Amino acid sequence: MKKTFGVSSVKLWVLSIFVLLLLIVPVQVFAIEEIDWKIRHDVDFYETTLKALAEENSDIMKVFSIGRSWRERDLWTAEISGANEGEKTALYIVANIHGGENESAESAMYFVWWMMENRETEEVMKILENYIIYVTPVMNPDGYAASWVYNTRQNLRPTDLNGDGKVFSDPYTDTNGDGFISEIYTGAKDSKVEDRVRVGMESPDWDQNGIPGDDPKNSTIDLNRTFDFGWNWLDVDTDPVVGGNAFLRAGPDAASEPEVQAVQNFLISHPVYGLVTLHTGIQCVLYPWCYNPEPTKDHEFFKATAQKMIAAFEEPSGGRTMYEKQSYYDYPTASEMIDWAYGRLGIHAYTVEVYRGGFPDTESTDPADLHTWGNELPEEKWEYVGDWQGLTDVWFRTTSRAQTVRIAPPDQDLMVDGIKDVLLEFIWSEPYGDGPTVPEYLTW
Ligand SMILES: [Zn+2]
Repeated sequence: MKKTFGVSSVKLWVLSIFVLLLLIVPVQVFAIEEIDWKIRHDVDFYETTLKALAEENSDIMKVFSIGRSWRERDLWTAEISGANEGEKTALYIVANIHGGENESAESAMYFVWWMMENRETEEVMKILENYIIYVTPVMNPDGYAASWVYNTRQNLRPTDLNGDGKVFSDPYTDTNGDGFISEIYTGAKDSKVEDRVRVGMESPDWDQNGIPGDDPKNSTIDLNRTFDFGWNWLDVDTDPVVGGNAFLRAGPDAASEPEVQAVQNFLISHPVYGLVTLHTGIQCVLYPWCYNPEPTKDHEFFKATAQKMIAAFEEPSGGRTMYEKQSYYDYPTASEMIDWAYGRLGIHAYTVEVYRGGFPDTESTDPADLHTWGNELPEEKWEYVGDWQGLTDVWFRTTSRAQTVRIAPPDQDLMVDGIKDVLLEFIWSEPYGDGPTVPEYLTW
C-alpha cells in the first residue's frame, strides 16, 4: 500500500508562515531589556548581565575582572567607550564596597544597562565620543553574597571571631526557615523586652560551644577604612583618636585586602579624572576630606558639582531628596577610598549615598534623618520559642534590618533612575572635548 506522504496546501502555508516567524522573531535566551529593577538581584546577576550587555554591544563595551575577592569571586568591571580612546576623559564608578548595600550595586548596574539601552541617543553618543567610563558594580562580592543571608558591610577575610582555631566555624543559619536570621535571647514568657538576655545569633551552634552563631561570616573589616592613605589615623568614626585601635575595622595593614588592592591598582594603571563610589545608609553626596576638617583646594568645585548632582536626583526619584557635605562633617573617618583617590592621585572623588530607609524625622537637626526614602520598614519581631537547642525560655528577635534581607525597597526602579541622572551630572562636570586629557597626578 502506498503511504500518503503529501500535505494539503493549507497545511503547507501554515507551516511556511510558522518557519518564517521563527526566522523573523529571534529567540531571546536572556532578555536584557526586560530586567525588573524593582527587585533584589543576587550576586551572579551582575556578572551575567555585564557579559550579556558586552556581547550585544561589543563595539562600545568590554568586561574584565580587575581582581578577586578572598573567596576568589571576580570584581567584574565594564569599560564603556566609543572609538579613539586616546582622546577621552576617563571616569570610574564603583559600588558595593559594603556588602549589604545592595541598592548601590543595582544603581551602578542600571547605569551600565541604561547606557546600552540608550546608546543611539544624542546624550549617550556624546558621552561615548568624549569619555571612557569604567564601572565596577560590586567591589565586595563576598560581602554581597554573605548579605543574602544577613546584612553585613564586611568582606570575607578568613576570621576566627570566637578564637577556637577555626575560621567561620559557626555561621548564621536560618534554623526555623522564616527566611531571616534572628538574634537569640532568653527570658520568661511574660518578661519585658529590656529584661531579656542576649545569648547569640540564630544558628544550630555548628561548633557546639554552647553559644549559637558566635563565629559568623564576618571579617570585622570595613573596606572603606583600609585604603592606603592615612591608614589607622583615626580610631572610631564618631570619636576620632589619632593612632587609635583601628585594627579590627581597618584590617591588619594599609590596603591589606585584595578587593582594595584591586581598586587601587586599577586606578593607578588606568588614569581617571573622577570617581564616584556608591553606598547606602543615607541620601547624600560627600567629598574629601573625610579625615580632616580643612577644605581641599578643590572645595568650591566639589561643592558646586555635588549641588548639581543632588538636584538631578529629585525628579526621577519621585521627589526624594539628598544633601551634600564635605565628608568629614558628615562624620570623620580615615583611609576611605575618596581620600585615597584624591589625596594620592588627585582624582575628583565623591561618595554618593543612594538610599536611607524609613520616613524622615522632621524633629531631627541631622540632615541624614531628613532626607530619607519615605518607606515603611518592617517592625522588629519578638517570638517566644521556649525550649530550643538545650536552652530554655528562648526568644527570637528579628530586627527590621534582618527582615529586609533580599528585599528591594519600594520604587527601587525610581532610585536607580535617579542615581543615573546623578552620575550623568558627575560625568559632565569633568572636562572633555579638548583631545587627550591627562589627570594632574600623571604630570608630576
Ligand atoms: Zn557604605
